[in-house]
Amino acid sequence: MHLTATLLNYYLLCHRKMWLHAHAIRMEHTSDVVYEGKLVGEHAYPQRAERYTEVEVSLEPEVPDGIGLAAKIDFYDPHLGVVHEIKKSSAKEHAHIAQVQFYLYILRRKGIKAEYGLIEYPKMRHTERVELDQNGEIILEDWIANARKIIESDRCPPVLPKSKCKSCSYFDFCWSGETEE
Ligand code: SF4
Repeated sequence: MHLTATLLNYYLLCHRKMWLHAHAIRMEHTSDVVYEGKLVGEHAYPQRAERYTEVEVSLEPEVPDGIGLAAKIDFYDPHLGVVHEIKKSSAKEHAHIAQVQFYLYILRRKGIKAEYGLIEYPKMRHTERVELDQNGEIILEDWIANARKIIESDRCPPVLPKSKCKSCSYFDFCWSGETEE
């Protein structure tokens, strides 16, 4: 299997969510939040389709039966080596930056030009530039190593405090049987 940007995003949000998703226990299709995110990604900048290309890259595991890395990048400028990402969010999030850094990291490891990233927030009319320097690569590699360890474990990580779970698509899965606060 491969560690994807989605899994890395979940790693930063909740280790349990990442583990559940990696072990094919999926709830996202029931989530309106996820649907809206996909919608903005598909329709926000249709005029850019010809300038940017969609690219899929992967790095195979370093050990037999290990976990590789994979990314499907919707908007990549091959001439400038720039990765674009579009977010429906009304607020900047650390996980958005990590996602684009993950893309830059995989592209570079494949020997593909990856200078920097741009995250566009249509709702805020804001563009955030994302760099990946040497220190950033070390942090990212640490996240990747930890995420791999968690996914390879047979044990599902514990739940987060309930206050952090309200908008999670796994809420019912994790809290069924609990009394609502
Ligand atoms: S409901 Fe909470 S504990 Fe469960 S996966 Fe979502 S964030 Fe994690």
